[in-house]
Amino acid sequence: MLDALFFRSWLTATTVAVDREAERLTELDSPIGDADHGSNLRRGFRAVAAVLEKEAPDTPGAVLTLAGRQLISTVGGASGPLYGTLLRRTGKALGDAPEVDEAQFAEALRTGVDAVAALGGAAPGDKTMLDALVPGIDALDGSPDSFGTAREAALQGALSTTPLQARKGRASYLGERSIGHQDPGATSSALLFETLAETAN
Ligand code: ADP
Ligand code: MG
Ligand code: MG
Repeated sequence: MLDALFFRSWLTATTVAVDREAERLTELDSPIGDADHGSNLRRGFRAVAAVLEKEAPDTPGAVLTLAGRQLISTVGGASGPLYGTLLRRTGKALGDAPEVDEAQFAEALRTGVDAVAALGGAAPGDKTMLDALVPGIDALDGSPDSFGTAREAALQGALSTTPLQARKGRASYLGERSIGHQDPGATSSALLFETLAETAN
């Protein structure tokens, strides 16, 4: 079972990982974006860690909903509303249960990923975060072991964006020139699955 502490640990681990990887994420956002993805997420996840510390929400749903709202209000770039929606909608889908099992979480996260697709109008293959989020969520089968499989699937998904031409977001303005670069948002999404697998271990 996964409780509020599990989700707070996941998000805290993500704050640490985003801090560590911020420079690389911003570098990936240089050739096909505006070189701010790492700094956007660092600001956002630091704010998430701070508000979780302050308010200490005590259900999984409340942790994720609060974190999502905080990302939306602190990150100006496209990734803020998108990741904010992912966490907020996942949290809402979990309701107010004090604990959820892996299958319930996988189902709720699917709702969150669907909400990201609806908000941004993107689908897998468009060279966005969905290229990592969708394979990641597809690999979650409700068993605790599948967190490791999902981590690998999301990483492969992020790597698979390199040969793609972007059809959504800033990178799409470059047309064919977006080909040959790994998508920064797909890379940070793979990071979210990496910290999830670490937290579940
Ligand atoms: P901005 O592009 O506003 O500077 P960021 O650099 O923080 O925002 O985030 C860029 C990432 O957001 C992209 O690499 C891509 O993965 C993701 N993204 C952009 N637009 C969309 C969209 N419509 N749907 C899904 N993801 C998107
Ligand atoms: Mg950017
Ligand atoms: Mg920007």
